[in-house]
Amino acid sequence: MIENYFSAEDVSEFRIWLDYADRFVVISHMSPDGDAIGSSLALCRYLRSLGKEAVAVVPDSPPDFLCWLPGIEGMMIYDSDPEAVEKVVYQADVVCCLDFNVVRRIDKVAACFLYTKARKILIDHHPYPGATFNVILSYPEASSTAELVFHFICALGGFRNIDYDTAVCLYTGMMTDTGAFTYNSNSSCLFNVISLLLETGIDKDRIYSRVYNTFSESRLRLQGYVLNEKMQVFPEMSTALITLTGKELRRFNARKGDTEGFVNMPLQIKGIMLSVLIREEKDNLRLSFRSAGSVPCNILASEWFHGGGHTNASGAEFQGSMEEAVALFFEAMESWRTSEKENIRQLFKK
Ligand code: MN
Repeated sequence: MIENYFSAEDVSEFRIWLDYADRFVVISHMSPDGDAIGSSLALCRYLRSLGKEAVAVVPDSPPDFLCWLPGIEGMMIYDSDPEAVEKVVYQADVVCCLDFNVVRRIDKVAACFLYTKARKILIDHHPYPGATFNVILSYPEASSTAELVFHFICALGGFRNIDYDTAVCLYTGMMTDTGAFTYNSNSSCLFNVISLLLETGIDKDRIYSRVYNTFSESRLRLQGYVLNEKMQVFPEMSTALITLTGKELRRFNARKGDTEGFVNMPLQIKGIMLSVLIREEKDNLRLSFRSAGSVPCNILASEWFHGGGHTNASGAEFQGSMEEAVALFFEAMESWRTSEKENIRQLFKK
């Protein structure tokens, strides 16, 4: 058997809840990604296999490239039907919180989440979990929440309940949160999990294709535009910056999720260790940060933009103009140039 993140003691309280609770709600973060959706659908399936009522809730719609996942049609979206979501959250006995660490990440679902009397468990891999949960299972070293949900189910003795569809959802979460196993995925334990999932008969190559080879023509042209005209490279600080205004996004008919992955592209340039994408949204700016090696882009996100995330992948929101955000980015870089931290200073060429 493979090493489990969770001991029997870690899941003992949840096991007690399972004895008396019937209604479970699984909540994940806004702009849900493959890990948020995959881990939520998998946990719901497992709970239903135990005869429980279980429904997955997200603040806003999943991206189109995930809409084939088994069970996604039953997912409840706050933006589509706020009252129905509030009702299930208030009526829940247990709320499982997946793939987020603090309540603001569930956006408009936060109000009913904070007021419901349901017991609350967090299963997550983002650092620094907040305190609004009865049980916190937080493992930042895990590749994905989907990997943690696999271990969670196993710790509850449910390995045999992981069927083909559950495996598809878990695999999708693990694959998308590691860039198809190109980062944050060096643990042999992760590949042991994959090996077990493959035994259910899932086709990992097909899953890859269904997630990644789904671009529209305009999405690919937007990518070309970004690389050719919008990517600024600063070799002296091993950094690249991409900005995209709402006007530019509309010009390419960009839809939700169409800029996904753009921020990773500059890291393909030799010597680039940090990449920042600033994108205009409806009423604010959204920043994405990616870094290579030990460069902590989450420090840049948190100390300068009130955001946060993982060492190599973080995000933030910014109220202000594009010019202000870019100016703040350069100010941050200027202060990093003289940083005492070796991993930050390695960005700057001598
Ligand atoms: Mn995740």
